[in-house]
Amino acid sequence: MEYTKYQYIDIIYSTDHPGVLEVASPDGDIVFSANVLPGNSNFLTLRIPQNVRFETCTINNADNLKILDMKVRKDFFDFFNFKQKYNTETICSDLQYQECTNKIRSGITFFVTYKCTYKCPFCWQRAETTSYAAQKNINFDPAKLAQTFNRLLPAFIYFTGGEPTLYNNLFPMVSKLDPQIKCRITSNLGPSFDVDKFTSLIDPDRFEMLMFSYHPSETTRPQFLEKIDKLISNGFTKILVESVLYSGDIPSLLEIKDDLETRNIIRRYDTCCLPNGKQHVLSDKAKEMTQELQDIGMQEQADNSMALQQSGNMFANKQSLILCPAGHKNFHIDPAGDVYPCMSALDRSKLFGKWALPHYQPIGNIQDPNFDYLSEPIICWEAFRCSACDYETLQSGWRYIEENHPPLPE
Ligand code: SF4
Ligand code: SF4
Repeated sequence: MEYTKYQYIDIIYSTDHPGVLEVASPDGDIVFSANVLPGNSNFLTLRIPQNVRFETCTINNADNLKILDMKVRKDFFDFFNFKQKYNTETICSDLQYQECTNKIRSGITFFVTYKCTYKCPFCWQRAETTSYAAQKNINFDPAKLAQTFNRLLPAFIYFTGGEPTLYNNLFPMVSKLDPQIKCRITSNLGPSFDVDKFTSLIDPDRFEMLMFSYHPSETTRPQFLEKIDKLISNGFTKILVESVLYSGDIPSLLEIKDDLETRNIIRRYDTCCLPNGKQHVLSDKAKEMTQELQDIGMQEQADNSMALQQSGNMFANKQSLILCPAGHKNFHIDPAGDVYPCMSALDRSKLFGKWALPHYQPIGNIQDPNFDYLSEPIICWEAFRCSACDYETLQSGWRYIEENHPPLPE
């Protein structure tokens, strides 16, 4: 595994200004570089190759940066030396722990691209001009990718984006997957979703759910329904249509409602959250019109949320120290093929840098023919930020390490 080629240096630092921290080897090569952020107790994990002796390196730090604490470790899993301190091996060898993690359904979420064929007015990904927009896409080799997925043999793979069908070889790749792997997709069913190619290559049993977003500003009702009907007539009946309650779209959403109902299609409506935190204000008339849509679509969401609440605490207490099976049973892939143990790691690595916390780092790249699941659970103190999906999937495998742990880095 790639992470075994490195040693790790966990530091807590304070600084007034954003800047860059670099580590130079004795011959002047920069072996590590990361952004530092202003704050009084920030955490950063430096990663340098095993064959470079850290004691001989120079740290070129940003102006005013003070290193408050530093721990050097060789073990990827031993963040901040907690593993040694709390004897996590004993916790992980516990039979009850193993039974819980064995029950977790293994899955992969693949953000195939952040690019899209549409320009929805409320799209936050389109409005974002730095980290997501700058993400490089990879033209994955479909045969090699399918081979890796077949070796990893997850119970399901979820393809999403942006618009995942912008990857031309998505359907040929899916057709090469082991029949035991079930798939899900979220697509806008727009110009890059070639229904003929899809139905000719894919068996209807392959997808446990096809989730299509209907965006009336970008397509028409006949265009959307034509593709839906072609899929249904080819045996693809597990379809969900989701839409955003954006005021300009609401009349069209009401118009297509009965068409979807007669086709037994599940509908879901999401509240509109405009990019940059701007509030989306609905007129009284639009509010009245959304009520009818919400009555239908919200029931399923209400049921899901109830199931979540009944499954335990919604979220862990702030800064509990836990062992989490993220990466060990489930993982997320970004458009560059980098693999992150969970959604929080993928998202927050883009906001704060891959090195800001240990589990924000990629645990490998899906194009590496030797890529594998993490062999151990990871130590996390950010469970209070866990995404609802990760929480739902993984929390049965969480183990609290100790109540009285020392103050944790932020
Ligand atoms: S289809 Fe989705 S990803 Fe594409 S522009 Fe619309 S909201 Fe954004
Ligand atoms: S507890 Fe949540 S945030 Fe932490 S590693 Fe697990 S899935 Fe990620």
